[in-house]
Amino acid sequence: MIELVLTVCLTTDPAICATHLLPQVAVVNQIECEATAGVRIEVWQKQHHDLTIVNRDCKSPDIAPLPVIEIADGIWMHKGLNEIPTPQNAGDLANIGFVVGQDAIAVIDAGGSRDVAERLLAAIRQVSNLPVKYLVLTHMHPDHTTGASLFLDMGAHIVAHENLPAALASRAMTYDANYGSLIGAQRMILSNVIAADSIKTGLMEIDLGGRILHLTQTPTAHTDNDLRLFDDLTGTLWMGDLVFAEHTPALDGSITGWLAVLDEMRDFKAARMVPGHGPVSLPWPEGMDAVYGYLSAVAQETRAAIKRGESLSVAITHVGESQRDKWLLFDEFNARNATAAYTELEWE
Ligand SMILES: [Zn+2]
Repeated sequence: MIELVLTVCLTTDPAICATHLLPQVAVVNQIECEATAGVRIEVWQKQHHDLTIVNRDCKSPDIAPLPVIEIADGIWMHKGLNEIPTPQNAGDLANIGFVVGQDAIAVIDAGGSRDVAERLLAAIRQVSNLPVKYLVLTHMHPDHTTGASLFLDMGAHIVAHENLPAALASRAMTYDANYGSLIGAQRMILSNVIAADSIKTGLMEIDLGGRILHLTQTPTAHTDNDLRLFDDLTGTLWMGDLVFAEHTPALDGSITGWLAVLDEMRDFKAARMVPGHGPVSLPWPEGMDAVYGYLSAVAQETRAAIKRGESLSVAITHVGESQRDKWLLFDEFNARNATAAYTELEWE
């Protein structure tokens, strides 16, 4: 693949620089890349006053493609790491992937930084030269959304739940500061939260040519902006972070809402399911049993603690402990989940 490759530095700190792609929706050759580079850089630079371009070139970029596997015909997935975000892992923590139709490609979640997104694009180009027309965001969390600027720069439609633009906008400063401090200033170049008005909502389906992806908005569960996807052709269901495996679930919406959504989904017919974390393909509905078991235990133990008159600070020392051995990153997430569950359930 030939791409326009820019090396940019922070205008406020010229020692912090990064090399990134400025791709087009269609694959270009060397001559086409060079013929359009000047205009594209001019437009791009107007939106990025915080960055100074120190080098530009049309070339085959030196990017290691993300490892991906084809879990069903034309559906390629990458498994995120069970880690907290660091400069080394670049926020490569969520399961992300892409679906290839006859005319176009849809990317499902953007990864936790611009670098992860560019590595996903390199993986896409090993499989297909079709245009990447859509990026579907399953919800707002930074490990799923931070790479979105790449697809925006390509001219793809960014598609999400109707609550996502407001949710992202209200958290933009916190995500840029807190998540940014975890992955570091260099990884954060072009990894800022995208503008709310660049996100399309309300789409029920995406036509990739001979293949329709159906989108369903979920009531408040893992977050207040969870979007599910279903591919008719292969019977593949994407649950986003409505299903965690291996990685301790993270509760950022409603524990009763989340359990209700899973209860309601149990009779849904699917050949396989893609969770937001853990193996990239699980049997359905059995693949949701682990997260359902965890949430049920947390809800039950929280209700018992509230009934005994325990304060929040006492309850969170033990709620969920029965589940500890079943999950990775338990200490990083369980206490926060117990706090969220207590705050919700004390008003029942
Ligand atoms: Zn999430």
